[in-house]
Amino acid sequence: MHKIIIVGGGLAGSLSAIYLAQRGHDVHVVEKRGDPLQENSASADPLSSRAIGVSMTVRGIKAVLAAGISKQELEQCGEPIVGMAFSVRGQYKVRELTPLEGLFPLSLDRTAFQRLLNKYAAMHKVKYYFEHKCLDVDLEQKSVLIQGQDGTLQHLHGDLIIGADGAHSAVRRAMQSGMRRFEFRQSFFRHGYKTLVLPNAAELGFRKDLLYFFGMDSQGQFAGRAATIPDGSISFAICLPYSGAPSLSSHNRDVMAGFFSRYFGSLPPASRLEMLNQFIALPSNDLINVRSSTFHYKGNVLLIGDAAHATAPFLGQGMNMALEDVYVMVSLLEKHGEALAPALADFTRQRKVQADAMQDMAIANYEALSNPNLIFFLQTRYTRYMHKKFPRVYPPDMAEKLYFTSVPYDQLQQIQKKQNVWYKLGRVN
Ligand SMILES: Cc1cc2nc3c(=O)[nH]c(=O)nc-3n(C[C@H](O)[C@H](O)[C@H](O)COP(=O)(O)OP(=O)(O)OC[C@H]3O[C@@H](n4cnc5c(N)ncnc54)[C@H](O)[C@@H]3O)c2cc1C
Repeated sequence: MHKIIIVGGGLAGSLSAIYLAQRGHDVHVVEKRGDPLQENSASADPLSSRAIGVSMTVRGIKAVLAAGISKQELEQCGEPIVGMAFSVRGQYKVRELTPLEGLFPLSLDRTAFQRLLNKYAAMHKVKYYFEHKCLDVDLEQKSVLIQGQDGTLQHLHGDLIIGADGAHSAVRRAMQSGMRRFEFRQSFFRHGYKTLVLPNAAELGFRKDLLYFFGMDSQGQFAGRAATIPDGSISFAICLPYSGAPSLSSHNRDVMAGFFSRYFGSLPPASRLEMLNQFIALPSNDLINVRSSTFHYKGNVLLIGDAAHATAPFLGQGMNMALEDVYVMVSLLEKHGEALAPALADFTRQRKVQADAMQDMAIANYEALSNPNLIFFLQTRYTRYMHKKFPRVYPPDMAEKLYFTSVPYDQLQQIQKKQNVWYKLGRVN
């Protein structure tokens, strides 16, 4: 049995805690926010409008169910998704997807899912240090320095430290300064985002079983995504550049009213006004891409989830990959008889390739969604037609595989590359 300290009790950290506690390890989680299971807790970060909705695809669902979490309880945190709707000049083009492994992706209420994970972690007697922030990590001593809200400092020592503390990871920072030849690259997307929420999605004409995409007709100005969540509301991620008009820094109500009329013109004026008011009041959030050359240090420290490979949500895979990381980590511990050093080395070997492929695809999708590219729809139609006509040589629709299977990301990337070659040939012909 190992004593394991997990920094970050978000999605990846809490799922890791459940798996590891089940395997008999002594698990301690340090989380800077409050306890999500407490009423009125400070668990949801008021500044991060990311807290509202995420889509969980089949690889994420599998990782959660394999931890013994009930399918029924998971499904209560979300709505099944059967397709995507792209808004172009006020009209929706709907693309239905066919399930391949008998599971539907879920449009999740992030807070409800976080609570579910915390409930299971509590059942497995995981010890949480809520409202404690990790300040530093000693990679050799395998200890973390944490600070409570009252300023009290303490050291926690373990056999393994897991950094599940998100895109701005303190554990990764310690690896950057404490490891030789640790390479790290951080870049920001041209767009940031704000999340807006409207109640009564059905009354506004939104189907709860579709994911909505906006901005394909915006000349690269704007990319948006929306999904309903189980309380019946719909959350919109509005991605805009930081400067110009319209932009995240536009406080001119007329400019932004024009923006909402143009892209959400089918909504009633009262709903657009509500969106405008929320937009003006909310702070913006950055979209960041983080690449690290390794995810581990000896058998002492491991990075998972966004701490290892944060990216923008244009592929909707950050959480899914984070949850899959956990599943892979536990499988490798099992494979190596719980020996930490070989399991962690294997983790970097397997997951770095997958993380690079996932991030490359997310960036490519960002380019497609944030550039004027109506050919996108023709390309999709062409792909489906070609696969139907020549199923043995022409690869299937990548989006279906992405949402409905757990095919490794590097294989999906190969499919995408093959389709691009075929597509170019098709265009030349
Ligand atoms: C707008 C938006 C939409 C998205 N939509 C999707 C989607 O549809 N599907 C999808 O798969 N992914 C989506 N993502 C990505 C997804 O949110 C992340 O990939 C996912 O949250 C990563 O989980 P994590 O547990 O690794 O990190 P996080 O969720 O960031 O959790 C990190 C935890 O660590 C804690 N923490 C941080 N620093 C410290 C510290 N120093 N000490 C103690 N605790 C600390 C934080 O409070 C937090 O609880 C989206 C992201 C954004 C921004």
